[in-house]
Amino acid sequence: MTNGKYWNEKIETMSKDELRKHQLRKLKEQVKYCYENSAFYHKKFDNTGLKPENIKTLEDIQKIPFTVKNDLRDNYPFGMVTVKPADIVEIHASSGTTGNPIIGAYTQSDMDAWQELMARSIYTTGGRKEDVIHIAYGYGLFTGGLGFHYGAQKIGTMIVPVSGGMTQRQIKLMKDLGATVLCCTPSFAVYLAETMVKVGVNPRKDLKLRIGLFGAEPWSDKIRERIEEKLGIEAFDVYGLTELCGPGVSIECSEHKGLHIWEDHFLVETINPETGEVLPPGEEGELVFTTLAKTGIPLLRFRTRDISVVDTEKCACGRTHARMIRVRGRSDDMLIIRGVNVFPSQIEIAVMSFPELAAQYQIVIDRPGALDTFAVKVELTEQACKNRKLDKNALKRDIQGRIHSITGLSAEIEIVECGEIPRSEGKAKRVLDLRKGKM
Ligand SMILES: [Zn+2]
Repeated sequence: MTNGKYWNEKIETMSKDELRKHQLRKLKEQVKYCYENSAFYHKKFDNTGLKPENIKTLEDIQKIPFTVKNDLRDNYPFGMVTVKPADIVEIHASSGTTGNPIIGAYTQSDMDAWQELMARSIYTTGGRKEDVIHIAYGYGLFTGGLGFHYGAQKIGTMIVPVSGGMTQRQIKLMKDLGATVLCCTPSFAVYLAETMVKVGVNPRKDLKLRIGLFGAEPWSDKIRERIEEKLGIEAFDVYGLTELCGPGVSIECSEHKGLHIWEDHFLVETINPETGEVLPPGEEGELVFTTLAKTGIPLLRFRTRDISVVDTEKCACGRTHARMIRVRGRSDDMLIIRGVNVFPSQIEIAVMSFPELAAQYQIVIDRPGALDTFAVKVELTEQACKNRKLDKNALKRDIQGRIHSITGLSAEIEIVECGEIPRSEGKAKRVLDLRKGKM
């Protein structure tokens, strides 16, 4: 099936026309399937007077109401499952902190599709049978660890299913087993690189790492540059959601001009998050996905809350599937500080543009009186810590200026010594919002 560059050349490079025809055929099937098997969608359709046969073109999808995260929470655990419990073969769940988690319930056919899409994704980044894949995403209910595991298994790669934590042991294993592919969150990759320096491992000399597949949290190109430089690898962005399957929804190719959305399985739309209006390709908005082949929990027009831009032009890599530029932020993560919309990723871009600063920062927002306070804690690199000539006040002013030029807000800057901001072995906690309950 594989042919050098592509895992599945026929699907990955099929003409736009063929791809649209394929999508329309699958969309009609999925809509009919939902109407006949899902009490949730049957009711939704009946309430709006919609019938499956009203979906005649891809644009007709706009007649279907949106599905939101709360629909899944409200129908916890199995209210949106469309098959008998005996036909569910695996469960995953989102890492939500409060209330009901969001459940992913997979049939055998969903598992097969997920494995295929993960194999295709890893292969797109250059992962091959000869590689040693070090999977440091969490295993268990979280889709990260097992998602990569299943994909790598299909390719036939040597898998090291190390999961999270035990950083020093991970470094030893990477060295001794000759890991060539690293899969983890970008913040853990930064942490690994820092720890390697501390324990005297030079990743460029002592390791065989070639590529890294990073996702599960938004990250900027500046962090990418740092990771690539420190680990001596090519970094790829991975995107997915528990609701859709986990990782495997889209992946960056070696052109690094966006992530290919596997459109044979997912139909993507971009909407204005305030009004729900569908936007033309190329405009920034919230991503909305419709699954085209799911049988456990199929989803029609699922609102992701993720803000991105979709590019439908053919990619230089030869793949025809549309690309989403890297997710700018989750509309849920968007902060409103003194009435201004700010994404943590914007602060990251500002901070990372200073070579004196480490890839760690924390945003602290509070409201002691009538006005929000906005502070950014940044950390010096080990090298900058040793530099006695460093003018911290000048650096502070420069950081302030850069953040102001990006967000329009002036922030209080606190510079701390290297290693003072707590490190994370999972998802990074970048924002401390102390205003909760003070509104
Ligand atoms: Zn491409």
